[in-house]
Amino acid sequence: MLFAFITNGGDAETYTVVAMTNKTKGARGASAFILEKGMKGFTFGKKEDKLGIRASSTMELIFIDCKVPAENLLAKEGMGFIVTMRTFDMSRPGVAAQALGIAQGALELAVKYSRQRVQFGKSISSFQGIQWMLADMATELEAARALVYACAREVDAGVKDVSRDSAMAKLFASDVAFKICDQALQIHGGYGYMKDYPIEKYLRDAKITQIYEGTNQIQRNIIGLQLIKDLAK
Ligand SMILES: Cc1cc2nc3c(=O)[nH]c(=O)nc-3n(C[C@H](O)[C@H](O)[C@H](O)COP(=O)(O)OP(=O)(O)OC[C@H]3O[C@@H](n4cnc5c(N)ncnc54)[C@H](O)[C@@H]3O)c2cc1C
Repeated sequence: MLFAFITNGGDAETYTVVAMTNKTKGARGASAFILEKGMKGFTFGKKEDKLGIRASSTMELIFIDCKVPAENLLAKEGMGFIVTMRTFDMSRPGVAAQALGIAQGALELAVKYSRQRVQFGKSISSFQGIQWMLADMATELEAARALVYACAREVDAGVKDVSRDSAMAKLFASDVAFKICDQALQIHGGYGYMKDYPIEKYLRDAKITQIYEGTNQIQRNIIGLQLIKDLAK
């Protein structure tokens, strides 16, 4: 059995693995286990060569006849799916915060570059077209920040069900981050496309926030289903 794309794979000492313990029960047949690096039958496969977040290792986990003691069961047998979904509720705001940080950095680089770059005898920051781009970037970033912080406050306050809000925070912040990085690169013109300037890395790093912890299509599914469920009450 091979698990693909595991963040910190190989570096981490402890892993949470969800496996089917009863295939006839669907989602209710999944159970979560704690596994330790070095356990018999647990090894690592390929280290991925990625577009972005290249400082974070992403590896395959391989399980061959790996026997896990019952004491390593996390929660109760059959609770693996629920454990996973509750974990996502807490981890998605983290990805949203990662997106905010990337976007904030990209915006700052864009402002700095726009003040330095001179075209037609003026710094490009004096062009209204550039100012409007920066204004939209800053406004969308603040909207994303408000959503992410609101969700973080709910998590801190122990609100029972944050699935919808955590999906919204991750969805919006990551889409905004990718857009801001794209615009920031555009403001750098041709230099934005070169590795001599850091902005291309921001765009590459922003992309993953739209994909992991559930793609943004899946976040939309969660939000849409919750809306329909709430309206049916
Ligand atoms: C760098 C990196 C690190 C990762 N780290 C981890 C980790 O530590 N642990 C872990 O468990 N996973 C990890 N992942 C896996 C990650 O969560 C998945 O790649 C991601 O959830 C998407 O799943 P998938 O790759 O199977 O895409 P697929 O499910 O094959 O999706 C392909 C496309 O189809 C779309 N799609 C799929 N289903 C639907 C649907 N129902 N409706 C509409 N569109 C749909 C998707 O949005 C996507 O656009 C990591 C991935 C990457 C790239």
